[in-house]
Amino acid sequence: MRYRTCLRAALGVALLALPFAGCATLGGANYVSLEQEWQMGQQIEAQLASELDLVNDRTLTNYVNRIGQQLVRQTTLGNRPWRFYVVNDDRVNAFNVPGGLVYVHTGLIARAGSAAELVGAMAHEVAHGALRHGTRRMSQAYEANVIAGAVLGRNPGIAQQVAAQVVATGAFARFSRADENEADRIGVPIMAQAGYDPEGLARMLERLLEDNQRDPGAVGRFFSTHPTTRERVANVRALARSVNRSGLRMNDGDFAAARSRAQRY
Ligand code: ZN
Repeated sequence: MRYRTCLRAALGVALLALPFAGCATLGGANYVSLEQEWQMGQQIEAQLASELDLVNDRTLTNYVNRIGQQLVRQTTLGNRPWRFYVVNDDRVNAFNVPGGLVYVHTGLIARAGSAAELVGAMAHEVAHGALRHGTRRMSQAYEANVIAGAVLGRNPGIAQQVAAQVVATGAFARFSRADENEADRIGVPIMAQAGYDPEGLARMLERLLEDNQRDPGAVGRFFSTHPTTRERVANVRALARSVNRSGLRMNDGDFAAARSRAQRY
């Protein structure tokens, strides 16, 4: 795709849903600085606050935030402010937005069989954020000057468009299979270092795969953004079994209360 076409695509409403192959890119370069990323995150966060039904229940939000912060501390971006939100939505889903933002649906918490299953899904999202997959995708779609100007404040419409995209598709960007594998590969040690058994991520994926086979619509939103196959489950399980799991836990004292709250939504 030539630059002008790319630019037009980038400024279109469905900008991040477009396949980016062919747009100007320097082999996975990231044109978005960390400062810009966190600044952009604030704009999208404000927009999403008015468009998503965010849960205020302290039992639930404190629990998710505590786990999230534990995970973030295991990453190289642990010195930046990250924020975790619970969305009142019974569809199974979680997603990362650039700038240290992670959104977890009540439907995902309600469906988790143990704390480690929920932590596994969150560790995968934190890994996407720490690996900066979202801004790398953006860098493939936008020229550097477009990112510096249009995205970051000079065109507030972009934050609105990104938020609309998130609401419509349940994700900031459609990541590549390689991004997904990388988020699994990094998510496993992140959750292990936070004290949770990474077998939880394999079990969560397995549970959703089975749900999807029983009822293909049940976890459609999650599967559209996180293609899950038996092979992926097997890969994650092998990764989980390659770390030292002694002393790691599948559960904690607060998970059951948080899940029953999520199930009431
Ligand atoms: Zn993912």
